[in-house]
Amino acid sequence: MKIRVLGCGSSFGVPLIGNKFGNCDSNNSKNYRTRPSILINSNDKNILIDSGPDLRFQLLQANIEKIDACLYTHKHADHIHGINDLRALSLFMKKKIPAWGSEETIDYLINNFNYIFKKTQIYEPIMDTNIIADTFYIDDIKINSFQHNHGKIDCTSYRINDFAYSTDIKYFYDNTLDKLKGIKLWIIGCLRMDSHPSHASYDQIMEYINYIKPEKTYLTHLTGLMDYETLINITPENINPAYDGLELNI
Ligand SMILES: [Zn+2]
Ligand SMILES: [Zn+2]
Repeated sequence: MKIRVLGCGSSFGVPLIGNKFGNCDSNNSKNYRTRPSILINSNDKNILIDSGPDLRFQLLQANIEKIDACLYTHKHADHIHGINDLRALSLFMKKKIPAWGSEETIDYLINNFNYIFKKTQIYEPIMDTNIIADTFYIDDIKINSFQHNHGKIDCTSYRINDFAYSTDIKYFYDNTLDKLKGIKLWIIGCLRMDSHPSHASYDQIMEYINYIKPEKTYLTHLTGLMDYETLINITPENINPAYDGLELNI
């Protein structure tokens, strides 16, 4: 299984509009971050997690010509607003792309991007919808999911074999984190050092990582306050900040 970090930025990306880098060194290319998304390649299937506003650019960079399914973590704009870019892929592939998510997320998508899911006078629908379960399959790929807290809403963590992706976390609900026991690789959201109404602090995220103890962890959903080199220096050896284009094999 191969994982590519398409984007590891938070909702504004880095730099912010106006060329604002915050604490980030503009000379380090790893500080240029598009909105959060990853691509998983398993058994020749390309599974996208979230379709953020930078999706077109990200898929061009990664030279991707097909997406077999898109898993959605939650309904925030930085995770879904590139959904229109899947139209081109659907047309080229001549098939609908299955969207997967919680009931809340899928309802939001249908209500706000109606033309993607319903036939219009001109266009056929380009995606169909599927509600996730604790365990579900995309072809023969087994996926586990559970909800974690993200402020006023919930967000979905996904686990495939020994890999898990958990972004936009305020906290994990009781006992749910145990579902990640035994993973080898974790990509986890870490917005900034201090806590935010919808995101946990760096220290809290480190506690979660310490509890699960994956062999390797990458931090994602990083704001301009999180400089790459500074993070490399303060994180333990097996915990690194992600960067756009990072490819991992597991
Ligand atoms: Zn969010
Ligand atoms: Zn987000």
